[in-house]
Amino acid sequence: MERGKLIVVSAPSGCGKGTILGEVLKDPKFYFSVSCTTRQPREGEVDGVNYRFITKERFEELIAEGAFLEHAEYVGNYYGTLLAPIEENLAQGKDVLLEIEVKGAEQIRALRPDASLIFIVPPSLETLRERLINRGTEEMDVIEKRVAKAEQEITYRERYDYCLVNDKLEDAVADFLAIVRAIELKVEK
Ligand code: 5GP
Repeated sequence: MERGKLIVVSAPSGCGKGTILGEVLKDPKFYFSVSCTTRQPREGEVDGVNYRFITKERFEELIAEGAFLEHAEYVGNYYGTLLAPIEENLAQGKDVLLEIEVKGAEQIRALRPDASLIFIVPPSLETLRERLINRGTEEMDVIEKRVAKAEQEITYRERYDYCLVNDKLEDAVADFLAIVRAIELKVEK
């Protein structure tokens, strides 16, 4: 069986990447890599589905065991990608989606030359701030921190292979699937 593709997706928080991925993941040819994190679950988040919510101590044990393909700290919390489920799913021919921030994406770029990197940007920083406020899951000071972080992160787009603007959901999903198809059809050199 042909191996699946390793696809990294990054976007500043509040860009709507969760909504785009929710649509894309309706197709069972994809496997979504569930990351480990030390941050608290948000309302509605389910352990084992959105993230594996673990303690800082457990996270540090997993680092020591070499269980992570990559890990990074983001706004005061740890986030990491477990290696084993990724390898299993690639071997089963699934396209594996890693939804991770820019430092993690850089690590994957260095470790896995076979990976393709997609960046999602909001139409503007103002739209991003509005979306975060409407989501209502964070206090205003955290929102401002995330917007500042996003402004800095957007400058990383040049390190990615593809960049799409999430303005209308339908268009963004279509663009995303078109990029994935191109990745699948790329001639291996
Ligand atoms: P949030 O707290 O909003 O769910 O995620 C914060 C940031 O951490 C997002 O940019 C998200 O893509 C990133 N993230 C989630 N899981 C991982 C991971 O396993 N590794 C890395 N490096 N970043 C992650």
